Amino acid sequence: MSATKPAWFAFPPHLEGLDRFEPGKPIGEVQRELGLADVVKLASNENPLGPSPKAIEAGRAAMAEVSRYPDPQATELRAALSAHLGMPVSHIVAGNGSVEIIDLIARAFLGPGDNAVISEHAFVRYRQIVAAHNHGARLVPMRGWTHDLAAMAGAIDARTRLVFVANPNNPTGTWNRRAEVEALVDALPPRCLLVLDEAYFEYAHDPDYPNGIDLVRRGAPVIVTRTFSKVYGLGGLRAGYAVAAPEVLEALLVIREAFGTNSVAQAAATAALGDVEHVRRSVEMNRREKARLAAALGDRGFPVLPSLANFVTFDTRAEGRDVFKRLLARGVIVRPLDPYAMGSWLRVSVGTPEENAAFLAALAAVLPGKRP
Ligand code: PMP
Repeated sequence: MSATKPAWFAFPPHLEGLDRFEPGKPIGEVQRELGLADVVKLASNENPLGPSPKAIEAGRAAMAEVSRYPDPQATELRAALSAHLGMPVSHIVAGNGSVEIIDLIARAFLGPGDNAVISEHAFVRYRQIVAAHNHGARLVPMRGWTHDLAAMAGAIDARTRLVFVANPNNPTGTWNRRAEVEALVDALPPRCLLVLDEAYFEYAHDPDYPNGIDLVRRGAPVIVTRTFSKVYGLGGLRAGYAVAAPEVLEALLVIREAFGTNSVAQAAATAALGDVEHVRRSVEMNRREKARLAAALGDRGFPVLPSLANFVTFDTRAEGRDVFKRLLARGVIVRPLDPYAMGSWLRVSVGTPEENAAFLAALAAVLPGKRP
């Protein structure tokens, strides 16, 4: 590529200055760059147990047919989701990961001059996607590192078409209770939809945690997005889905890439959904290890946010990116949160007992002064 800008080129002005999404560093990259053999990745909230063996087998079998285009309707996957969720197939759409669906929602429902209401430390893709499509975002401060749903309702104006809420939220892990979410839904004016991102739904066990699909079921203006990238361990295949009224999904179907969910992903996700025992084991290990990790960090004096997801977010009370780099040098990849304006914080995914122990040992080494 030429280093100088061609004379005919002008960077799209609305993309000027936008940040790119910074994903968790891949293990291979850290091994190559730092010459390390053993690398622990706790940076992308993946399932440390990997996918269900049944999903691997189904994906492998589907490989034999990849000369064919995938089923654009994702018929089997949507039928399996319909049975799993107790929702009609007409209320379900599959996507190339749930972020593809979030992108479709922004494209479909924001017209010129429209805006979206987004919480300040919410999953960063909402802000990035809305800006990439040249729409405004009304950013609302959090309250106690949690989405302030009352303030978000107050931020809705005549041009607000979408309100994004991640429940639980990444990167804070914090969550909103049923009554708060219902109050927000009740406050939505006509033509305004709530996007409830439930990427971590399967981990979120609390009697006050609302299931967004109940809202869809009762006809509320809500789109729920979920994913196979987290508890189902299929992040590399890119499979997610949305649940909403058929009229809402129709707007996504007209603009989407027809073959958005590839055939291997469809097969593996269908099988993964059926392996209830794998999900149960994954959730149980997460529950146990998250408590251990949070307690260990708390014991060392780090403020730790309460998390209903599969990661723990804590305040290093130092330069977070510097701590991140020093952990990296010891072969432990976590997530620095400066892109979230949380410069002293780190997010660590809950791994296996061994991975978590490796992280805690590395942290004790790079932040001496703190009790090991
Ligand atoms: N939503 C939230 C809140 C997330 O944290 C993530 C994963 N980082 C996603 C969506 C992305 O999911 P997917 O892999 O399905 O695109």
